Amino acid sequence: MAFRPGIGVDSLGHTSDLENDMNTSFVIKDAKLVTPKGIFPGDLRVDNGNIIELSGNIDAGNLACYQAAGAYLLPGFVDIHNHGAAGWDFSFGTYDQQTGEFKKDKTSFFAGLENALQQYLNSGCTSVLLTTMAAPLEGLLESIEYLNGFLDENPEYENLVAGINIEGTFLKDPQFAGAQNPDYFLELKSETIEALIDACQGRLRIMNIPPEQGPAALPLIENLVDRNITVAGGHTGSYADQFVDAVSAGLSLAVHFLNGPSRSSTKSFQGGGAEEAILRSDDVLVEIIADGYHVGRDHVRDIIARKEDSRVVIITDSMFATGLNDLRSFTLLGLHGEVSDNREYLRQVGKDSLFGSVLTMQKAFENTVSWLTIEMTGVWQRQHDQVDLESAICIASKMCSANPSGMIRGQEKLHGQLIPGDQANLILASIDKQDESVQMDIKQVWLGGREVS
Ligand SMILES: [Zn+2]
Repeated sequence: MAFRPGIGVDSLGHTSDLENDMNTSFVIKDAKLVTPKGIFPGDLRVDNGNIIELSGNIDAGNLACYQAAGAYLLPGFVDIHNHGAAGWDFSFGTYDQQTGEFKKDKTSFFAGLENALQQYLNSGCTSVLLTTMAAPLEGLLESIEYLNGFLDENPEYENLVAGINIEGTFLKDPQFAGAQNPDYFLELKSETIEALIDACQGRLRIMNIPPEQGPAALPLIENLVDRNITVAGGHTGSYADQFVDAVSAGLSLAVHFLNGPSRSSTKSFQGGGAEEAILRSDDVLVEIIADGYHVGRDHVRDIIARKEDSRVVIITDSMFATGLNDLRSFTLLGLHGEVSDNREYLRQVGKDSLFGSVLTMQKAFENTVSWLTIEMTGVWQRQHDQVDLESAICIASKMCSANPSGMIRGQEKLHGQLIPGDQANLILASIDKQDESVQMDIKQVWLGGREVS
């Protein structure tokens, strides 16, 4: 499935087929604009795929005009930690439900990838970092080469694939493996890092280097940060002191905080555990898998209160199983997984361990908004007040778009905000709350000003 050509509706209700450059220049009228400063009723103008102007009333002139009719206009979601969806996995290829095997020839990889990308767009995700698991290095290099080849052949997806996140390769401590296979943890060597950077052809955005890699890792972290690659720490058995050293070298992101898991220690020796260092450091943003299972909603509210909303990044950690409605169980590189009875999470068979998620950014956003709008008791904090719906939408938008964009460094036009100059990655949606649950009904998605869903 390829992008649909842009169909514009002018102010008189006439539709026009706009397949040329015109389709990335238009005005959206009468929206509730979700901006970093709050929600305002108004119009937004897009020129050549970029946001140019937000204002109470924009004269559309000859431009195509979309009537938002009071729906919310938000920046597209940015998922910096996603392993795959719709039957496709970045590390292992396309899942064949008949045989239960992953196929990784070029044709099936390309077809599976396109399905996954379309699913991201359908759920409002307009920037994604495709994320690797611990796996044989040759296999990962092959996946990266396929991805590069796919984007050469299908440049319309170049804006959506914001890059690559290397998660599992340099994990060290099997106790903190989670659903990563320790057989494929590699020694942290600069040759291996360079091989991955070369293969990514400028697309490497995040690399996970757990701080227990020790002092030898510090110059490697500094070097990565100098090259605009965000260094993360997760699945880590490090103590706080080691974690703080890595933060001083430039580590700035905690991989799916409270999952993986990472070491927690309430004792004062070595400053406590990695989790305590992550909570204390203002230089570290935390990823949260917002499915309500990986981290309970009371913990999520505690984390937001402790870190403040500017340091929380909502992610999916989605696996190939997302959107595969008949799938019950599977085997991935020797690890057995199963889908929960309510189909809302994956777990390792026979173990008390989760296995990625089946979450979309749309669902993650809905969950986050709904948890913010509920008064609740925390785990560490006695009381979390109810936030009104519009404030909750602004906070969730920040955590689902603006904050993750900040982790993708060196991108001039990607701030994940409705601000002039940013690429027009937009979601038009109605958002309603009934009882405790929030529903987002996506009406339209634009990627770089092109209507894609
Ligand atoms: Zn993980």
